[in-house]
Amino acid sequence: MSRFRRCIYTQGRVKAAPEQIANRIQNLLGDASITYDAELAERINGQRNPVVVVMPQTQEQVSAILCVANEERWTVAPIGGGTHLGAGNVPRPIDVVIRTEMMNRIVDYSPSDMVVCAEAGVPLPILSGILEKERQMLPIDPICASRASIGGIVSVSASGPMRASYGTLRDMTIGLKTIYPDGHLVRTGGKVVKNVAGYDMTKLFVGSYGTLAFLSEMTFKLRPLPLYRALVIVSGMHSDCLAFVQSIIHSQLVPSRTEALYGSFGIDAFGHEKTWCVAVDCDENQIAGQFQANALGKLADRFHLSSITIEGPEEVGAFWRRYQQKLELSQLVIRFAGRPKTLMDVSEKFRAFSAELGIDTCFSVSVTCGIGRVFVQGAKIDANERFVRMCRDLVEAEGGTAVIENGSVMLRQSVDSFGQVKNGFHLMKGIKKAIDPNQIMNPGRLLGGI
Ligand SMILES: Cc1cc2nc3c(=O)[nH]c(=O)nc-3n(C[C@H](O)[C@H](O)[C@H](O)COP(=O)(O)OP(=O)(O)OC[C@H]3O[C@@H](n4cnc5c(N)ncnc54)[C@H](O)[C@@H]3O)c2cc1C
Repeated sequence: MSRFRRCIYTQGRVKAAPEQIANRIQNLLGDASITYDAELAERINGQRNPVVVVMPQTQEQVSAILCVANEERWTVAPIGGGTHLGAGNVPRPIDVVIRTEMMNRIVDYSPSDMVVCAEAGVPLPILSGILEKERQMLPIDPICASRASIGGIVSVSASGPMRASYGTLRDMTIGLKTIYPDGHLVRTGGKVVKNVAGYDMTKLFVGSYGTLAFLSEMTFKLRPLPLYRALVIVSGMHSDCLAFVQSIIHSQLVPSRTEALYGSFGIDAFGHEKTWCVAVDCDENQIAGQFQANALGKLADRFHLSSITIEGPEEVGAFWRRYQQKLELSQLVIRFAGRPKTLMDVSEKFRAFSAELGIDTCFSVSVTCGIGRVFVQGAKIDANERFVRMCRDLVEAEGGTAVIENGSVMLRQSVDSFGQVKNGFHLMKGIKKAIDPNQIMNPGRLLGGI
């Protein structure tokens, strides 16, 4: 643990105005870019005061900002791509936003070790482009991936359909550099895959929503790009699609994504958009990929489903890009989790709720992972609120969870984003208190208003 700046803690201070905060940071950092942003403040929590936005270039600068913020009890929100501000609970008033755009260096990339270390502000598509040149990838495909920063995706532990075979960022992130609210720089994990003795602190920060510390650098283990890609899409009745998916789960096939979709996803081949379809990706070498695609086609015939096969990385990539583009326009996203074999039935019940409320919904269900998402476009706040409550009551009654992954400030002010607080919450509060005793980091954003 190293210390960049020593802090003086004082109690009972009166909060400074944005101009005073900006001046103080300007004096501290000299040439760093500092602005005010009222629109961003509105998006974060609907607050009237603009936030002071700082764009540091180095960890030392972040440390200095956090140190003075902690000393003065200014609240801080780190922001990367800014695509996920509608997630989590609405934070309490924020004074300072630390944007990560200027912290955008690839610190170390060793293709032969299949490990990359990069700064928080590196956009995911830029990182992917660099890795692709070495035929490697960070296998992660959340919605809004085209605008997300790697600091943001790690902070929210973003995932998409690829989670089914490649796991989550908690598995892929093997090391972090974090800057604690008191300015300490803390390293967790490292650059080798087995690098933890004791508690695995890296996993603690993945999915912490910026409520513990600023994540400045992250090290990921990588996977090779598949040699061949085929995508089989089947379509038909809900019950037949469900039986098809169940058969995949019990077969020896190893698809990289098995996503049950409902809604219009640009799959014109079937000519009927309002039915279920299942998109199954085979990332393999050519022989194994074609074998799997053929086997899936036969399985589709068995269940009387229409099927098409798309081959080639470009064509398959184009399908998933269309999928992303459609879903990133959603005003409300609810992620629900439960027993894998029940999720498509749960989705049907959600569909009935949405019909009752006059809401337009799309579904994307990673059946093999036990995770589904419902995407709502353009409904009124009160309908959305009722919809969230109805969905949550249903899944919680069956032991599952329903979390708002994206929603308006107004909606999240009236419905908690995470739902019931479970056992072990006191431990989470303890961790927050130990790392951020003055509650300056995104206060209120996480579960239970942490
Ligand atoms: C319509 C819609 C649909 C979505 N669907 C999905 C989905 O299906 N699956 C999924 O996983 N995600 C989903 N997301 C979320 C998406 O994955 C995120 O938008 C993205 O990963 C966040 O990246 P970002 O750089 O924009 O983060 P930001 O929006 O900038 O930040 C997100 C959070 O991380 C914190 N943060 C950012 N950078 C740092 C840092 N360096 N240190 C500490 N904290 C930091 C912020 O304070 C904030 O709390 C969806 C979002 C939208 C808008």
